[in-house]
Amino acid sequence: MAGLSLKCGDCGAHLRSVQEAQEHAELTSHSNFSESTEAVLNLVCGTCGKPCRSKTETDLHTKRTGHTDFVDRTEEEAKPIDLEAPKAPAANSEEGGTSGSNEAQGFFLVQLK
Ligand SMILES: [Zn+2]
Ligand SMILES: [Zn+2]
Repeated sequence: MAGLSLKCGDCGAHLRSVQEAQEHAELTSHSNFSESTEAVLNLVCGTCGKPCRSKTETDLHTKRTGHTDFVDRTEEEAKPIDLEAPKAPAANSEEGGTSGSNEAQGFFLVQLK
């Protein structure tokens, strides 16, 4: 079964994509990711639309804003994680001139156990 998230083995955080895992790794120096079939919680505030990923976050949001109406969209948002780093589109880009984003390749590889 395909994983729905990447779990950080160092702190238990769930990441929704390889990119997020990379960002997490950069921020925390954690590097112990494994594929998880547990979807990342996605609770959206019905009042302002802010997405929260944990009960802690919704509690904090309620404290800050007084918003108490959260919609659980975990199922809708959950999708199998793509472990491939995003590839540049095949060489059919005749357009040219899309604000030159030439990202460096192979900047970080997530280690899967
Ligand atoms: Zn971590
Ligand atoms: Zn809100």
